[in-house]
Amino acid sequence: MSNLDFNIDNLVRDNVKNLKPYSSARDEYISDGSRKIFMDANESPFDNGLNRYPDPQQRLLKKKIADRFDMATSQILLGNGSDEVLDLIFRGFCEPGSDNIITMPPTYGMYKVLAGVNDIENREVCLTTEFELDLEAIFSQVDENTKLIMLCSPNNPTGNRFSDDDLKSLLTQFRGLLVLDEAYIDFSDKASWVSQIKEYPNLIVTQTLSKAYGMAGIRLGICYASESIIEILNRIKPPYNINQLSQQSAMKRLESVDVIADQVSEILREREKLIVQLGEIPFIEKIYPSDANFVLVRVDDADRRYSQILNRGVVVRNRSNLPLCENTLRFTVGTAEENRQLIQILKSI
Ligand SMILES: *Cc1c(COP(=O)(O)O)cnc(C)c1O
Repeated sequence: MSNLDFNIDNLVRDNVKNLKPYSSARDEYISDGSRKIFMDANESPFDNGLNRYPDPQQRLLKKKIADRFDMATSQILLGNGSDEVLDLIFRGFCEPGSDNIITMPPTYGMYKVLAGVNDIENREVCLTTEFELDLEAIFSQVDENTKLIMLCSPNNPTGNRFSDDDLKSLLTQFRGLLVLDEAYIDFSDKASWVSQIKEYPNLIVTQTLSKAYGMAGIRLGICYASESIIEILNRIKPPYNINQLSQQSAMKRLESVDVIADQVSEILREREKLIVQLGEIPFIEKIYPSDANFVLVRVDDADRRYSQILNRGVVVRNRSNLPLCENTLRFTVGTAEENRQLIQILKSI
């Protein structure tokens, strides 16, 4: 069942609706290799491999990404990290000073920061103590100015994934946009929701090359949504937001499908090993199940354990200041050798 009340025109900010985007030199003449002399963009004419502006629409890279999911490049927007993608979604749809979004702590901290930067009210509806969605509480916070529900699944920092039924309820009953952050989807045994954007016009899925793809350094975030949503985001994105080096590295990395699959399998094996071994550490009181490349644990005294681990040379994340996360530490799964050292250190404390 699709959401009949959904209408994208009711959600776009007025200034964006009326905006005439900047048209760059490479937007006005898209190089197809047939012209040899470029005197339109005030670039340096001396070839060093990077003297020309990159493709503002990243067509080759988008094509490569689109082919993985059998979708059109017009359903994809690329950003300088997911953080830029998320910021564009805020700027496209949320009216500063009057609109609101809903987030479900404990979750990724950037949603709240972006709401603050864009002057959007952030309505927080905590997860249940089992880290599940409280749908009733979420819907009770929705009003006519609620533009976005931000959902991270598998969730950071809790590591769990939310049920398909809960996502379906949100998608069918909410008139705004559901932004589903799938940064960790490659570590989950459940399928991505990307294929569902045809079914649900109010679904935006974001992914990143920063985690499973091992490319955090190039900053590449991916946004999948209906053509009409992508068209709006394209209007407001900075013209050359993905630099040439990042486009090239991403193209190359996406060809290494087997390497990436092997690395993901290794991380999953290591995650299971780590979970077993963490169970033998006396001061670890609870280990939360994980569909991601990290494990959240509850300890007796997080501040004390954090500094003990740090003093022995390993940096982990203390998540204790988040709601429902008192005395928790988050361990990113490392290489087999790094995990062995972590366990050895934990045992020595
Ligand atoms: C790491 C992470 C991202 C990735 O952000 P990038 O800007 O693409 O590096 C996005 N969402 C969540 C929840 C994350 O944990």
